[in-house]
Amino acid sequence: MYDVTLIPGDGIGPEVAAAARLVIDAAGVNICWEVRQAGEAAIKEYGSPLPGAVMDSINRNKVALKGPLTTPVGAGYRSVNVALRRTLDLYINLRPIQSYKGIKSIYQDIDLVIIRENTEDFHTGIEHMVGEDAAESIKVITRKACERIIRYAFEYAKKNGRKKVTAVHKADIMKCTDGLFLETARLAAADYPELEFEDRIVDNMAMQLVRKPEEYDVLVMPNMYGDILSDLCAGLVGGLGVAPGANIGDKLAIFEPVHGTAPKYAGKNAANPTAMILSGVLMLEYLGEFEAAIKIREALEKVFVEGKVRTKDLGGTASTSEFAEAVAAKI
Ligand code: ATP
Repeated sequence: MYDVTLIPGDGIGPEVAAAARLVIDAAGVNICWEVRQAGEAAIKEYGSPLPGAVMDSINRNKVALKGPLTTPVGAGYRSVNVALRRTLDLYINLRPIQSYKGIKSIYQDIDLVIIRENTEDFHTGIEHMVGEDAAESIKVITRKACERIIRYAFEYAKKNGRKKVTAVHKADIMKCTDGLFLETARLAAADYPELEFEDRIVDNMAMQLVRKPEEYDVLVMPNMYGDILSDLCAGLVGGLGVAPGANIGDKLAIFEPVHGTAPKYAGKNAANPTAMILSGVLMLEYLGEFEAAIKIREALEKVFVEGKVRTKDLGGTASTSEFAEAVAAKI
């Protein structure tokens, strides 16, 4: 039996979390879900977006499945998502991007993985006003953080039978920060002669991903580029409704979809829970529950291919819960 912290989150979070829970339980893994509130839901109850009870639960269980949390734009508290990743040192953000049979997209055979540094870059949030009419934001890149994420990318490629690692950067302009990232990647590449290595400047990478995504395999990059390119790549395979992710550290991991709280769908039972379900699948794989993970992947594919139960983002009329029930029934 596994004890897993479940953070439903804000916006569409509670709906997609309930859907994922239904599907994962249907796959037969014995999970004791410890439900904990964070984000806006927690502010109302505990006066903090990240109450001690959440951290205690994650530290105890070592594994969490999490819905999206609201980050106000401009004002208010800093991102709870970023705080969680930094406090728990979850330095790897793994975001697999795959085409799914039955989901309409201009691309058919995309199978790439974004590996994003998760603890520094502009996401450290070090910024200030300079007088009244100027502002500065500080981009932090350290050799230690570059090394561990880049090494992880090469090791991931090796373990998963991948052929190529592409380092994404803007070292032509940011010669110190991105220069350090690129230099670290080149040095690490020398230790993996069996893997192809190349680098791409991030603007060119965006264009290449739209023109010929099938040429890419494992992409490793600093935090901000990963944030942006993850959404672009989600768009290549059907949108944010189908893009899962994992935040992984040396001792614990939090699994969560790429998407945010999607307020326009909140409370309407209309969001696509696939990204959250697939984040749960990544969690099962992390726990070594491969059989259950395969069952869920196959069930999702059957539902997509049949095409009778589709959520609105994929051109259908099914609700979040109807979709989850259809997937659970296939299992
Ligand atoms: P954040 O800054 O927290 O990442 P965001 O403002 O970028 O969030 P999202 O909440 O990720 O935005 O959503 C952007 C849009 O993507 C939504 O308005 C919605 O159209 C679509 N979307 C996101 N998630 C889903 C989902 N699970 N199902 C259907 N559509 C979704």
